[in-house]
Amino acid sequence: MAHSTTIGTDIQQAKQLLATGQVVGIPTETVYGLAGNALDPDAVLKIFEAKQRPHFDPLIVHTHSIAEVSKYAAEIPAKAQLLMERFMPGPLTVLLKKQSMIPDLVTSGLDTVAIRVPQHPLALQLLQQLDFPLAAPSANPFGYISPTTAQHVYDQLQGIIPYVLDGGATTVGVESTIVGFEGDDVIVYRVGGLAVEEIEAVVGKVHINTNESSNPKTPGALKSHYAPKKPLLFGDATQLPTDKNIAVIAFDTYLADIPHTQQTLLSPSGDLNEAAKNLFAAMRELDNGDADIIFAVRFPNEGLGRAINDRLKRAGA
Ligand code: AMP
Ligand code: MG
Repeated sequence: MAHSTTIGTDIQQAKQLLATGQVVGIPTETVYGLAGNALDPDAVLKIFEAKQRPHFDPLIVHTHSIAEVSKYAAEIPAKAQLLMERFMPGPLTVLLKKQSMIPDLVTSGLDTVAIRVPQHPLALQLLQQLDFPLAAPSANPFGYISPTTAQHVYDQLQGIIPYVLDGGATTVGVESTIVGFEGDDVIVYRVGGLAVEEIEAVVGKVHINTNESSNPKTPGALKSHYAPKKPLLFGDATQLPTDKNIAVIAFDTYLADIPHTQQTLLSPSGDLNEAAKNLFAAMRELDNGDADIIFAVRFPNEGLGRAINDRLKRAGA
């Protein structure tokens, strides 16, 4: 359906649209979400349609408290409980056995549901005022770079959704860390805005299983994702083409032999959290600029550097 899209800070308007089965762009601390009533299959279908997202890629359910999580999960393993108490609200998504009230469309037919509590004041206020949880994937066309401002959402979903709730630029900037539980094991299926080190400090050693595939059984692991329209090279600066106009994404230091005007430092002070926060906006800006190719360096594989490398690798696939 065609809509004239507006951006605003009116929670009541967002609430009213969601309560009548519409989808709305919402801020979270990770990236902007495209939200609809998670218990209403028609609203969920609208999310998939607006994003042109394949139905095999399940959605994350957002709610406002741990008590609410318990309503939608059939069981909560002890280590899940520990992580939830420590990191909710925050950029942690847990995979839990679902209750039957969660439509199969939300979970792509899986018997687990992905749930999180976003740490964003507007999102939490909105969720507290609704009597249903929100299914919300990132608010971008499937496969493209995730949005970190309301304007990013507007730029791409204008005319397709009625409203974008503006909560400012996101503070974390990469998607949530997705964690599942098998027996006593904790498995990270997507590295993200909550560092693996922080998780391990609470539950001990975890397994990292971010398998790549083009039709994953454990989704969230699509090989090509988060991708700009321009080609993106990731990792090895010794093989840069010399006949192309290159734009560089670097961490805290400029690469030698390339003019600084062609380079974007994600964090001049060497802070991986700041780099994560700036990553997607930088990718978008360079994608809209006049370079032929984007080159991104490999970041230190620790803290949020792991999520940055994961996104850049998929963007380059
Ligand atoms: P997005 O909301 O766009 O960041 O994507 C959410 C990701 O969460 C998807 O790519 C899924 O692969 C992952 N996810 C959601 N539900 C499940 C589930 N039940 N089991 C495994 N992964 C899930
Ligand atoms: Mg996404």
